[in-house]
Amino acid sequence: MLDRSTIWPYRDGEPGEFLYQRYGHPTGVEAEARLGELDGGHALLFASGAGATTALVLALLSSGSTVALAEGAYFGTGVILRELDRWGLRVVEFDQTGPPPDGVDLVWLEAPSNPFLTMPDLEAAAKHPAPVVVDATAATPVHLRPLEHGADFVLHSATKYLAGHDDVLLGAVVSKREDDAMRLKEFRTRSGIVAAPDPCFLLLRGLKTLELRVRRQTESAKELAERLSGHPSVQTVRYPGLGGLISFDVAGAEEARQVETALRLIANATSLGGVDSVLEARARWEGDRVPPGLLRLSVGLEPVEALWADLAQALEIPGSSRARE
Ligand code: PLP
Repeated sequence: MLDRSTIWPYRDGEPGEFLYQRYGHPTGVEAEARLGELDGGHALLFASGAGATTALVLALLSSGSTVALAEGAYFGTGVILRELDRWGLRVVEFDQTGPPPDGVDLVWLEAPSNPFLTMPDLEAAAKHPAPVVVDATAATPVHLRPLEHGADFVLHSATKYLAGHDDVLLGAVVSKREDDAMRLKEFRTRSGIVAAPDPCFLLLRGLKTLELRVRRQTESAKELAERLSGHPSVQTVRYPGLGGLISFDVAGAEEARQVETALRLIANATSLGGVDSVLEARARWEGDRVPPGLLRLSVGLEPVEALWADLAQALEIPGSSRARE
């Protein structure tokens, strides 16, 4: 149900469940209930994935706290955490396929990491005394429910698979414990990093097809990852066996640009998780942190043969070393 009201009248002089939109609204509560069921916890929605990250860190930590961040996690998460350096937040990066370092106040994992697509060692992280956050944007609850593996919080850029149609900006935190969710909700109300009713309504609609979309995208991605592995212009393929996200390397920045501009069906655009396939060279955003020829492909719902035909024609790179072999 979409209710755009910002105010609801008091009854007999008493505020009811809903009184002012920043505190909560029926469309958001409905979407949170649905997402909470999917992840097995208490869901809260925020204005974006980045907003959810900011709210979680500010609500949970203090000046002097240290976050252990998975190496190769979403670039923007590191950017936000380093922005908070001015307020005394410290960040150390670690290899999430092993145990997190000692002496940190929060462990931040990503399943799978974007764009390196490593999977975290959830069992090792669960043994760590600090709270554990898993950004499961790319896995979605269809493939992974981190709270069942000892995580304390799940973070989603709901902009991606959960909403699924590239027309909504939203973030979510799903907490295992109700008291954590209450604290986070209080912070959300005070800070105003809130989700508006319209995006929540579109999220509700997206969630109805989440499982169907993600299963199909996974099937297509598996097939494309295999075919890419055998292609002479492709050097490395990263695919963890789940989800619709693949990254692969061509020889260098110039070859990557050639692939980007030769695509006809797949859009050359950023983001991921939508029904339409998109591909981009990540070095334009992440610089030296990624190989210059790294291309990230988010597989959509187009027929897999049409996607392969587009990739195959775009990968006919003139002069590419392996193509000459
Ligand atoms: N986490 C991951 C893994 C992402 O890929 C993104 C966005 O690309 C975010 C968080 C941030 O989400 P948003 O763009 O909704 O703020």
